[in-house]
Amino acid sequence: MSSRELVVLGTASQVPTRHRNHNGYLLRWDGEGILFDPGEGTQRQMLRAGVAAHDINRICITHFHGDHSLGLAGVVQRINLDRVPHPVTAHYPASGQRFFERLRYATAYRETVSLTEAPVAGEGGVLASAAGAAGSTGTAGYTLEARKLSHPVESYGYRLIEPDGRRMLPERLAAHGIRGPEIGRLQREGALVREGRTVTLEEVSEARRGQRFAFVMDTRLCEGAQELAQGCDLLVIESTFLDEDEPLAIEYGHLTAGQAARLAAEAGVRHLVLTHFSQRYGDPSDFERQARAAGFEGELTVARDLMSVPLPKRR
Ligand SMILES: [Zn+2]
Repeated sequence: MSSRELVVLGTASQVPTRHRNHNGYLLRWDGEGILFDPGEGTQRQMLRAGVAAHDINRICITHFHGDHSLGLAGVVQRINLDRVPHPVTAHYPASGQRFFERLRYATAYRETVSLTEAPVAGEGGVLASAAGAAGSTGTAGYTLEARKLSHPVESYGYRLIEPDGRRMLPERLAAHGIRGPEIGRLQREGALVREGRTVTLEEVSEARRGQRFAFVMDTRLCEGAQELAQGCDLLVIESTFLDEDEPLAIEYGHLTAGQAARLAAEAGVRHLVLTHFSQRYGDPSDFERQARAAGFEGELTVARDLMSVPLPKRR
């Protein structure tokens, strides 16, 4: 199994269908799991997709419409029933605090797990970072950010950014006779003295760009969505409507396949995942066709329930 992948739990907007559950997505990122937008039925979809309550470290909710949050009650209770051994942090729009509390305490159960409420307000910002930025919680090697989107109820998109790093070059290490624990010391200290000469980290490694993932829904075209998508290796974005229904998309605060694909193309996204489809459409290949017609040339997935999408290989 890839150590960084998206597990799709549900792909339906508003009303689930025979083939599509309400939304739900688990991002596996090294040892951590981030659950996005648990709609109704998420707990059972987790079982079908091989996702355990223990896999969840964080929950991110974009907004409090039912198709993105009604599953929270079941997921929170399952986390407690299974006595998940680590703390869990939840991010959601601060304006929906009362909805979060109702879902968290929808029925009686025994609380066994530490669940931290970390609501998002204003324009968003940094929620968590590897370095432990002020007011944030520590992560396994990524920064988590939120940006405000444009939807009839307050909605935030999320982005994970892995810090840029260095890739060690074995032939250069060998040329300097650096091996074993010395490599770790050079990485930590940035330089090493070998036979009276200083060898710097830059001489024996090259820049390695960190990976980026973004989760954008529900929203109209807006600056927040464009910003989140910028340079993403993997972008999950709503495309509720087909292009012919653009007036509906604008009225209800959603995107069409063509709008989502154009946004992704302009942002230089490598792998685009379209999801959150209206029940009114039968043939998912129409979304793919319109996304291609809009000029998106990267890897493209029209999401299906229970599929896994690995992050693209590093460049
Ligand atoms: Zn929705």
